[in-house]
This record gives sequence, C-alpha cells and structure tokens, in this order.
Amino acid sequence: MKYDVIIVGGGIIGCSVAYYLSKRNQKVLLLEKRDHAQGSAGATDGVVSYHTKKPGAQMDLAVQSLKLYGTLEKELGESIEFVPDCGGMQLAENKEQWDMLSKIADKQRESGVDIRMISIDEAREIEPHLAPDLYGVLYAPCGGKVEPIKLTMAFLHAAKRQGVEVKNHLGVTKIKKDGAGKVIGVVTEDGSFYEAPKVVISSGSWSAEVGKMAGRKKCRAFIWLQAMKETELLWRRLPESCFPKKL
Ligand SMILES: Cc1cc2nc3c(=O)[nH]c(=O)nc-3n(C[C@H](O)[C@H](O)[C@H](O)COP(=O)(O)OP(=O)(O)OC[C@H]3O[C@@H](n4cnc5c(N)ncnc54)[C@H](O)[C@@H]3O)c2cc1C
Repeated sequence: MKYDVIIVGGGIIGCSVAYYLSKRNQKVLLLEKRDHAQGSAGATDGVVSYHTKKPGAQMDLAVQSLKLYGTLEKELGESIEFVPDCGGMQLAENKEQWDMLSKIADKQRESGVDIRMISIDEAREIEPHLAPDLYGVLYAPCGGKVEPIKLTMAFLHAAKRQGVEVKNHLGVTKIKKDGAGKVIGVVTEDGSFYEAPKVVISSGSWSAEVGKMAGRKKCRAFIWLQAMKETELLWRRLPESCFPKKL
C-alpha cells in the first residue's frame, strides 16, 4: 500500500500531525510500537501555558496553541478536559532565582503577553498550597490545563474518522531510501515494507534512535525529565519524612 505520509510514533505529536495532515486530504499511515499515549504524552502534567516559553517563535507558538485549545474540543468532538485561565507560575526559591526569572519575564513581555513577578504572599492568595518560604513567583494569569491522554485519543479518533490508517504494536525498524538518497518508506518489526515519499518522526524520546534508522549519524533528542522532577518537588513540598534516608 502506498501512502503520502507515514508517521512514526503515536503520542500527542504523531496523533495531531495525523489529524491535520488527513484534514488536508493526505493519505496517512500512523505506526506506533506500543499503545497510544504510552510515551511522555501519557506522563505529562497537561499544562498549556506560555509562562515557561522563550520569547520569539516558541512564545508565539504557545500563545497560538492556547487560543486553539479553546475551540479544539468542539472540533474534535470529544472532551479533552480543557480548563482555561488557571494561570501558570514559575517559582523562585531565592533572590538569585527571582532576578533570573525577572529578566526572563521582561523579555517575555516583549511578545505582548501578560506575565509578572509577584510576591509569595500574592502568589499564595492565588494558590494557597505554595510553601510560604518561597521567595517569589513569575506569574502568567493566562494558561490552562488539558487531560493529555484524552487529548491524544481525541486527535487519534478524529484522524481515524478522516481515513488515517493506524497500526499499533508495530515498531518501525528502518527508514528506506532509494539510490539517490530519497525516502521511499519504512520497514516494520514484522519485516513488512510500507511505501511513502515522506516520513514524520514523532517518536518522542526515541526520535534520535529513529532518525538514525534513516542513516543520520547524529540525531539529538531533548529530555526534560530532570527539570520537570525538580519543579514537582518544589510545588508539592513533601515533608522530609516522605523521603527514604538513603537513596
Ligand atoms: C513528567 C512530564 C511532564 C510534562 N509536563 C508537560 C506539561 O505540563 N505541558 C507540556 O506542554 N509538556 C509537558 N511535558 C512534555 C510533553 O509531555 C512532551 O513534549 C510530549 O508528550 C511529547 O509527545 P510526543 O508525541 O512527541 O512523544 P511521546 O508521547 O513519547 O510519543 C512517542 C511515541 O513514539 C513511539 N515510538 C518510539 N519509537 C518508535 C518506533 N521505532 N516505531 C513506532 N513508534 C515508536 C513510542 O511508543 C511513543 O508512543 C511533560 C513531559 C513529562 C515527561
């Protein structure tokens, strides 16, 4: 079978790309080596905000996508549990972090977004569970939450309704090229060959690995786990007794 595009990885990126490509009448095959939303799409906090974004293209994209979430539920025809305007915060534990965040906020405001530095007392009026000994907070009143697994599945279902073919538990093992170096399709772990002139790599943390299947010697993938864990610890402020004495 020949497709216009083959997508490798069925997380939030793969499912949404499948949806938007099929909306443009592309014949799409989506291949997922496990089940959908079993990668980071199923582990995320579901924050959709712009308070963590770099000014410029990243910020513009975040602002646009926040607007999009307002209409997405209706468009996809399923609940994605989008809660708008719960706001977003980045926490400063000390003056050094406060100064760093203040500089970031100054830059972010150049994109025309409402982002401010507020005292910990003001922040605790908005979120009473914050630890009182924090130094201060970078605060964006706009910013929402979404249920990431429902969002992934809503994109998947809508993509399927638009004709996207989906195969689960079928990992890609090779991206094939012709003699001139042009992509011609992919080989899956059962040895099958699927033909397409375009392949989208949306394999999350495995993207570097999948990129190498196309013969790229160096591929980079960014892993945010460490930073996310630190944020979680700050936010929840678990008592010392929760931690084992020895790690
Ligand atoms: C703890 C945590 C919290 C986060 N919180 C937020 C947040 O609040 N807001 C936010 O915007 N982002 C957040 N993120 C980041 C966000 O989750 C990711 O950017 C997003 O989920 C990436 O989606 P993805 O589709 O690229 O990857 P994934 O969801 O990982 O999907 C990749 C898929 O590719 C499949 N795959 C891999 N190799 C192959 C192969 N060879 N063949 C076929 N399929 C393959 C995998 O099985 C997987 O299902 C968070 C991430 C983590 C880990």
